[in-house]
Amino acid sequence: MASLGFWSHGAAQRPDNTADNSTTANAWCQMAQKFTGGIGSKLCAFLYGDGQRPAGTVVKEETASMESNLACNCNKTPCACQNVQINFSLLHAIDLLPADSGEGVTFAFLEQLMDILLQYILKSFDRSTKVIDFHYPNDLLEGFNWELDEQPNTLEDILMSCRTTLKYAVKTGHPRYFNQLSTGLDMVGLAADWLTSTANTNMFTYEIAPVFVLLEYITLKKMRAMIGWPGGCGDGIFSPGGAISNMYAMLIARYKLFPEVKEKGMAAIPKLIAFTSEHSHFSIKKSAAALGIGMDGVVLIKCDVRGRIIPSDLERRILEVRQKGFVPFYVSATAGTTVYGAFDPLVAIADICKKYNIWMHVDAAWGGGLLMSRKHRWKLNGVERACSVTWNPHKMMGVPLQCSALLVREEGLLQSCNQMNACYLFQTDKQYDLSYDTGDKALQCGRHVDIFKLWLMWRAKGTMGFEAQIDKCLDLAEYLYNKIKDREGFEMVFDGKPQHTNVCFWYVPPSVRYIQDKEERRNLLMKVAPQIKTRMMAFGTTMVSYQPQGDKVNFFRMVISNPAATQEDIDFLIEEIERLGHDL
Ligand SMILES: *Cc1c(COP(=O)(O)O)cnc(C)c1O
Repeated sequence: MASLGFWSHGAAQRPDNTADNSTTANAWCQMAQKFTGGIGSKLCAFLYGDGQRPAGTVVKEETASMESNLACNCNKTPCACQNVQINFSLLHAIDLLPADSGEGVTFAFLEQLMDILLQYILKSFDRSTKVIDFHYPNDLLEGFNWELDEQPNTLEDILMSCRTTLKYAVKTGHPRYFNQLSTGLDMVGLAADWLTSTANTNMFTYEIAPVFVLLEYITLKKMRAMIGWPGGCGDGIFSPGGAISNMYAMLIARYKLFPEVKEKGMAAIPKLIAFTSEHSHFSIKKSAAALGIGMDGVVLIKCDVRGRIIPSDLERRILEVRQKGFVPFYVSATAGTTVYGAFDPLVAIADICKKYNIWMHVDAAWGGGLLMSRKHRWKLNGVERACSVTWNPHKMMGVPLQCSALLVREEGLLQSCNQMNACYLFQTDKQYDLSYDTGDKALQCGRHVDIFKLWLMWRAKGTMGFEAQIDKCLDLAEYLYNKIKDREGFEMVFDGKPQHTNVCFWYVPPSVRYIQDKEERRNLLMKVAPQIKTRMMAFGTTMVSYQPQGDKVNFFRMVISNPAATQEDIDFLIEEIERLGHDL
């Protein structure tokens, strides 16, 4: 077929990119016919100047298909052109749009990619496939050519790179993936992510992200209403993650107390002290380090055996700090600690913060999702008294990474604390209400659109759908707890029903089970979870995280946020741990 000649032109040898238009059109039209009649023929019609035609109904498209087959200069029915195979090994990125007549190649290329993605999605939910195809870094490095070259690689190679990348990716949507707080693969969330990338814009102004800015406004308001702030009033921002949201909170708390810090820096203000629990997320300390408060400026408050702050210890430490002449300015309570899933007693903490005029932040990065659940939201009672709240929809709510919100009760603080009034972005004489230019609230300049995934999923599920999904995960955690609490070989790290979906436990292999000497037992037990984990990764059957905490040696921290998980998957996990660990 003469038109195929076009495809054989390497882009590099075609610097002016001027192929004969009718030939290329013909070629890509033939190829387009391979695809679902409707779309392919629409493209054909478009190419042949037929595109002005109003987008037809399905029936119309079927007719169009016939017409454009004729337009392909092929008078056979069915059109033999459908058999034309695109040879991606002869094509390059430069053949894709915006290349002249690049529509066809682009279309075919993206179809191929979609095929790869759909295969991956199917496998992600297939329990007979591995969660991970694990290889040591050197093997992966040496197994493939990952180098960046001077010359362009072919599209065939690009598609292969996509396949390879996914082959060794961890299937975080797999029903047996329990390794992290962010798990699952939501189909609507995924669709929204594709749309977001396609729209490829920046959150800094209404000017360039009109719909996304409005959706952020609406969603933040809804989230604040769920926290319990009257009418959903207040402020907020989506940030690159809970750690950054927490840092925003500390930043504006400091600014609220000492606005001069923005101009003059830390030398102009007294020594500040923040308080959080021993079980809090490391990002609180990291924020203090980054903001010049220093890690020494964070006092860790004692927790009870379940990992909840002891309020009397908090008050004692605040008084101590005041006595030293320092300024207690910030308490970060945790709603759903990362390891134990503990909920700090927020009401008691709110009382203390009020008494000493301290900013109360609630880090609900992990636990915030429970606000969606009528059954579990009481665990966050008192959150409505916080000055700021971190809530990560990319954890318990299963929104694709990344999606984290900082919600602030007082409006305007984020703006006045962070604004720099860059006049190339935030012109003051624009035609619209400038409060929709949210960009200057952020520490970043450009900001990724994280809102659409959350908004679209919320539309698709309704609040009730999120509630059902979250309740199910909590039910599964309780199911796991009930199964292992009295099971031979399993020991709970703390007693009692889990507050969140975190279930922390040791697996004690028979060889360790009857050892009397405490020290010897500890030393052996310490090595068990890492060894089981190593085997788990090698088999690729499931993934669960482990860690030590305080004086507790390595234990498994099971967390469930994956809506695809079922009781059978929990059963599988327990049996798999026994299978992999009984001989240790
Ligand atoms: C996960 C987590 C964070 C950090 O969130 P990222 O989105 O990973 O930055 C902060 N706090 C708590 C309690 C968390 O569980």
